[in-house]
Amino acid sequence: MGKRILVLGSGVAGSIVSNQIVRKIFKELQTGDVSITVLGTTDTHCYQPGWLYLPFDLVRNEELKRSERTILDPLINFIIDSAKLIDVKANKVTGVSGKIYEYDVLVIATGSVPRPDLIPGLSEAGHWFHTEEGALKLQAALREFTGGKIVIAMGVPHKCPVAPIEVTLMLDDYLRKKGIREKTDIFYTYPVGAVHTIPAVAKWAVPVFEERGIRYETFFNMKEVDVSKKMLSSLEGSSVEFDLLISIPPHRGASVITESGLGEGGWIPTNKQTLQMEGYKNVFVVGDTTNLPISKAGSTAHFSADIAVENIISVVRGGEATHLYDGKVFCFIETGKSQATYISFNYSNPPVPPPPTTTVHWMKLSYNRLYWLTARGIL
Ligand SMILES: Cc1cc2nc3c(=O)[nH]c(=O)nc-3n(C[C@H](O)[C@H](O)[C@H](O)COP(=O)(O)OP(=O)(O)OC[C@H]3O[C@@H](n4cnc5c(N)ncnc54)[C@H](O)[C@@H]3O)c2cc1C
Repeated sequence: MGKRILVLGSGVAGSIVSNQIVRKIFKELQTGDVSITVLGTTDTHCYQPGWLYLPFDLVRNEELKRSERTILDPLINFIIDSAKLIDVKANKVTGVSGKIYEYDVLVIATGSVPRPDLIPGLSEAGHWFHTEEGALKLQAALREFTGGKIVIAMGVPHKCPVAPIEVTLMLDDYLRKKGIREKTDIFYTYPVGAVHTIPAVAKWAVPVFEERGIRYETFFNMKEVDVSKKMLSSLEGSSVEFDLLISIPPHRGASVITESGLGEGGWIPTNKQTLQMEGYKNVFVVGDTTNLPISKAGSTAHFSADIAVENIISVVRGGEATHLYDGKVFCFIETGKSQATYISFNYSNPPVPPPPTTTVHWMKLSYNRLYWLTARGIL
């Protein structure tokens, strides 16, 4: 029997890893010396960064989805059967169907999800855009909005580090175009003692907020929402009323991770360079579900997948994981007014965003289309 690679999750990380492996060891897959099986929850692959544009009517929802089967190389065995239990000691995974999948090398890429239920009242009174359903609900609320107070609040950790700044500046733009900015108070809150956790981004964002009349409060960690009073209070003791609450709920890893005892909060202890699960040479962790000290972002999934693939192939062939991830991340930042900037950084070099330009905005919009090539392991 050939070596069996089992990949859990068919989002960004799972798709890139699987497709890239096929491209690199095509012959072994054709001869059956190696096989790849991907377990997913659904055939629908969503381009999640597109959900940022959905509330502002800047994209159609249908443009953000593809069939996963068409993204994955035909040599990959794609099965819709969510992993229910991962047993890394016995090298096997049980699906919700009850079927058992044995492996030689396992790749865990089950991502992370927003958990509004962790903040009392947030599910009932808040909005968010980190799910398809949430982004559509926020789109409907904004279409009806005629003015008032909009509060923006984040839970930690969350995916896409720059989304708080982007949604705020895009909201400002949207309200101006709609002609109701004068009638709207935008109040931005952030959990640490600055408007963003990356110092260079915070330094750049403060004068932009001031120029656009966006008020802000730092050291604001969401505690609870009083649904009837429409009031959000913080762990630090302050509270703020709102007409519309736009939040990024705190995120957690997939439930299968905690239920299998692989990591608290769904975050798996991962070697930050080789991307192997701590203590297991034949288990790799890619994407949001790692506990790496770096942003949870699609680009993190992409750059770390490049390294993981080399190491997976090496381990499949009986070798060692010798390729090392340096923590590379690249994120565009939409700044409104048809402009954007970007940050590029790694474990040891913090980012410095250059001044926003229209060119970078168009590069971001182009990437939104090119993403499907990334998922196919081509770009
Ligand atoms: C609004 C928004 C804007 C963003 N903007 C950017 C951006 O500009 N730049 C950027 O780099 N990143 C951005 N991101 C973040 C990026 O989308 C994520 O970091 C990325 O999708 C993580 O990839 P992943 O493969 O780890 O997880 P996902 O892409 O979420 O994939 C995980 C997959 O695992 C599946 N799964 C879960 N549990 C199981 C199970 N038990 N069995 C089998 N499968 C399972 C899920 O269904 C899912 O398909 C944004 C995200 C959002 C929501």
